[in-house]
Parts: sequence; structure tokens; C-alpha cells
Amino acid sequence: MRKIGLVPLASLKPGDNRFELEGLARDYGLEIHEVRENPSFEELLGRIRVDVVITRSGKRFLVRGRVHFRARLRCAICNEEYERDFDEELVAEFTMLERPHAVYARELEPEELDRVKIDADFIDLSAVIHDAIHLAIPIAPRCREACQGICPVCGANRNLVQCGCELRVPKG
Ligand SMILES: [Zn+2]
Ligand SMILES: [Zn+2]
Repeated sequence: MRKIGLVPLASLKPGDNRFELEGLARDYGLEIHEVRENPSFEELLGRIRVDVVITRSGKRFLVRGRVHFRARLRCAICNEEYERDFDEELVAEFTMLERPHAVYARELEPEELDRVKIDADFIDLSAVIHDAIHLAIPIAPRCREACQGICPVCGANRNLVQCGCELRVPKG
């Protein structure tokens, strides 16, 4: 099955082309355990919605839109799992390169310039969605703004119970 994020260049008319995509991670060629390098990231949940406009002008294809997804994370303070919705911006530019064999490069920010060659007949929105998801997941996520964490004395989750332990500062 073809990834739903692959947009045939032949289908793009000059000017704006709007796409609305919706599917499971695997439909985009993504894994639910997408952000493996982050131990606080558990998995992508349910369907990923993408609303995007691809503006074609000459050899350039500007991609702008939003991706909506839900993920299960693990709080870096209390270690409990929680779920969160994300609504992230998508921006990328694909440029048709003038080479003997036409290839297309995705241009990232100048400081992290990383030209990705993709199939000449498609723009791969999955790669853009992949980047947006990776950028969106915090390194040390918190289940709530003022997470109270775990009691170092009895191990209770202090968001849920008031264990009443006194935190003693060792005398020295
Ligand atoms: Zn927490
Ligand atoms: Zn306690």
C-alpha cells in the first residue's frame, strides 16, 4: 500500500493545492514508537490529521500547514503516563534540482541544511510530518504544569495523595 503522505507532483497545479489527510501512523509510513531516542515518549495514538497547502511556483514547492496528533508520554517528574494532543505547524520547501536525473530536495533551515533526495515523482509529506512530530515532543515532558512528583520517603504519587511524610533535611 502506498503511503498516504506521498503527493504526486503531476497532481499539483501552479499556485495553491490544498490537501487534508487522515490516517494511522502506519498509513503514513511512520511507527507508533516514532521518537525512540526520547525515553519519555511512549507512542502515537489513533489517527494523525494533516491539513496542508502546497504552493507550486516554477521549480519550488512550498509546504505549509498543520498536523494534529495525540501521543502517550511519560512524565519526567512523577513517571506516570499521560496523553496529550499536539497541533503543530508544518513548513518545508521542496526544490526541483536541475540534474540529469530529476531529483527533489527538501530544504530545511539554513543552520541544519539537510537535503533529502526523494522520489522524483512525489513530494513526501510523511518526511515533513516525521520532522514535526520529532520537534514537538518535549525532552522532559510534565503531566501537568505543577507536577508534585514522587514522595522520596514513601514513594506515593503526590499528585494523587497527600502522604504527609515530612521531608527531613539531614543534619550535618
Ligand atoms: Zn507528573
Ligand atoms: Zn510520602
